[in-house]
Amino acid sequence: MEIFTVFGNPIYHSKSPLLHNYALYKLGINAKYTRYLLKSSKDFRNLFFSLGLSGANITLPYKEDIANICDEIRGIGQKIGAVNAIVKENDKIIGYNTDAIGFYKNIEGKNIQNALILGAGGSARAVAMILRENNINVIIANRSKEKLTFFRDRYFETYTNDNINKITNTKFDIIINATSSSINNELPLEYEILQSLFSNSKIAFDLMYGIRCKFLELAKEKGLESIDGSKMLLYQAISALSLFINIDEERIKPHMEYIYKIIQ
Ligand code: NDP
Repeated sequence: MEIFTVFGNPIYHSKSPLLHNYALYKLGINAKYTRYLLKSSKDFRNLFFSLGLSGANITLPYKEDIANICDEIRGIGQKIGAVNAIVKENDKIIGYNTDAIGFYKNIEGKNIQNALILGAGGSARAVAMILRENNINVIIANRSKEKLTFFRDRYFETYTNDNINKITNTKFDIIINATSSSINNELPLEYEILQSLFSNSKIAFDLMYGIRCKFLELAKEKGLESIDGSKMLLYQAISALSLFINIDEERIKPHMEYIYKIIQ
């Protein structure tokens, strides 16, 4: 039997085992998917191989650490420098980032020319890179300076919350909250600044899911289309399982969509 897991800290809340186990069962694959509370990424390689895993998902706060220990990163994960899925190939660990495509599938086909991303962590990197790959102009704003270096080094226009007032009159087709502010039921920016930004925009996206979210509530009040991170979770999981078991995403999709609707 093949074994997969999701590593993270905290991990008890993860819906990944439900999504993956249901799809594995429906596809008739002899495999199980567990969750693992990872207290430190030190010695991760040995842990991964000693658990006999064929693959794993990686979640907060280890996506960047694990990218650094992969033998190879394939696809857009190379540019992002963060992985959320790893696969054992012979004695090697191959890393992938399926968050990026998971995000993008939510907005594919919409008329989006430019985007403002709030936040500069691992998920902001994934979102920025997939938007750029699709020729969408991206500006990044973050609370503090340090994490913006990654973006400046790659020629993104960046702002901190201290000088974001310079762009409050810009019309953004989409404003994406890729900060962790919603976990604490906070706004990522001052109320007045966010209100000005929303006045000129069409879509608001918050990567958070499953909880009340002030960012999207304000966006709805201002008449914006609002999207939360729940479908991003679903789509990244479909892509990850396809890599784990080497089965086409289209075969996995109906099973994951079915269980996703039930556990929502
Ligand atoms: P990181 O820890 O890498 O980055 C967090 C970012 O949020 C930093 O830029 C930080 O700013 C900023 N931040 C944190 N708190 C606040 C606040 N109160 N106000 C303003 N900025 C704040 O996290 P990730 O990028 O990995 O994840 C971000 C969010 O996206 C999480 O909530 C996560 O759950 C969600 N996510 C959802 C996914 C999905 O499938 N739906 C997939 C991946 C992530 P600073 O640099 O100043 O500290």
